[in-house]
Amino acid sequence: MPIDATEPYDPNNVFAKILRGEIPSKRVYEDEFAIAFHDINPHAPTHLLVIPTGPYVSWDDFSANASDAEIAGFVRAVGAVAREAGAVEPGYRLLANVGLNSGQEVPHLHVHVFAGKPLGPMLA
Ligand code: C5P
Repeated sequence: MPIDATEPYDPNNVFAKILRGEIPSKRVYEDEFAIAFHDINPHAPTHLLVIPTGPYVSWDDFSANASDAEIAGFVRAVGAVAREAGAVEPGYRLLANVGLNSGQEVPHLHVHVFAGKPLGPMLA
């Protein structure tokens, strides 16, 4: 079920549990501001999810309410994850779903990193 991006943060959402280590994940990156792990249902040969360590429902919540340090740290982490995955050449795609119309399922901000094959045109 897609979530409403304006809802309050639920500390028991599945990515909060992954962040706390209560649910296993294939973690590939970790720093003060972000962790990254493999998506359990990959849509590309490389499909990673990067999430902030802070409690933000969506990109909307994060961009409005996170500190400048959190925002800078998260953006740098997304770049580092893609570089460490060897995705910069020949390229990758970032995607962040926000709210009902996007189909966002998990109410903790996550940026998808897709790579490992030609990704085709963006869907409308
Ligand atoms: O952007 P959206 O909210 O639709 O994406 C959620 C993603 O989280 C899905 O790609 C899904 O496969 C992934 N997921 C996961 N591990 C979970 C639950 C969901 O990787 N335990």
